[in-house]
Amino acid sequence: MPTEKTSFETPRRNLAGLGRDALAAEMTAFGAEPFRARQLWHWIYHRGATDFAAMTSLSKPFRDKLAARYVLKRPAISRALASVDGTRKWLLRFCDGEEVETVHIPEEDRGTLCVSSQVGCTLTCSFCHTGTQRLVRNLASEEIVAQVMIARDALGEWPSPRDDRQVTNVVLMGMGEPLFNYENVAAALKVIMDPEGLSISRRKITLSTSGVVPMIRRCGEELAVNLAVSLHAVRDDIRDRLVPLNRKYPIAELLDACRTYPGASNARRITFEYVMLRGINDSPSDARELVRLLAGIPAKVNLIPFNSWPGAPYEGSPDAAIKAFSDIVFAAGYSAPVRTPRGRDIFAACGQLKSASVKLRRSERPPVSAA
Ligand code: SAH
Ligand code: SF4
Repeated sequence: MPTEKTSFETPRRNLAGLGRDALAAEMTAFGAEPFRARQLWHWIYHRGATDFAAMTSLSKPFRDKLAARYVLKRPAISRALASVDGTRKWLLRFCDGEEVETVHIPEEDRGTLCVSSQVGCTLTCSFCHTGTQRLVRNLASEEIVAQVMIARDALGEWPSPRDDRQVTNVVLMGMGEPLFNYENVAAALKVIMDPEGLSISRRKITLSTSGVVPMIRRCGEELAVNLAVSLHAVRDDIRDRLVPLNRKYPIAELLDACRTYPGASNARRITFEYVMLRGINDSPSDARELVRLLAGIPAKVNLIPFNSWPGAPYEGSPDAAIKAFSDIVFAAGYSAPVRTPRGRDIFAACGQLKSASVKLRRSERPPVSAA
């Protein structure tokens, strides 16, 4: 049994979201042979079954026995929104009533699923809406896996396709700081990467951190996923204000951890995210300092136009400032694309997540529709 308490707990245990070891242990406790866990794995993660009755390779009596003891449940979708640009956002509600958001961003050559790792965030980056939210808890690994399964359900992607997928990439850039929920994120990624199931390769997975330095090496060694670092400033006094975690792990320490990130190479660069804030961090000298700081790190820079939210204490940089900044970084040999904001009309863009849902009191929330 997984040690974490999951919010899926019902009198009948939920098997959807469990890792291989947990599923095998569950089948042993159930008195079933080990190959049963492998059969279930296939049905749950390759075929996306939500009902034991669909598992036609299992005998009817065994399916009935399973159904009497277990469920295959998804979190409830309390709201599903679609942007004019094709971005989709699902507000998911777990059994304890807590909610997170998951966003799907279709592009010409790929589709990226932006997954949350916590309800809210304990950090309080001053430009991020999620950081203003009071309520915080870690997501269980099952709840992280469930976000991928919900997207596959909604996009009609079962059995897990090999080609022509709509979910080709997963980014841990939703709500929360993934390295503050490392164990559960790691367990979830193992399920998501498993080639006989959801099968999203580690090369297509990116974990974004605000700079939890002591966890960065472990993340690289154990998960070997792509790393994105929310840098956002080139001076400690400014970064202290934008990303308060900087007071604990300042820029020099953060960049040292990046310099030795296992698996980083020119073919697999670390992404440095940099939100462009008018008059705060967007001058040409900031750009030049950024180039100096990144020397020796296989890096690319992702410039993010600021996505505003009600009461936000910043303004986004003008387009000309973003362009000038990008040109300087690019001239120094780094790719420096400006991230096109997606899904702003449904409040699904970076840093806008968990907005209306947190402001509504429980009694004001819309009724939950069946998942
Ligand atoms: N907690 C992690 C991952 C989630 S945030 C982290 O901070 O890296 C994903 C990205 O969105 C981060 O780079 C974050 O700094 C950025 N972001 C947050 N608020 C934003 C906003 N209002 N506008 C643009 N980007 C924002
Ligand atoms: Fe948390 Fe990331 Fe938002 Fe900072 S930017 S408050 S770490 S979610």
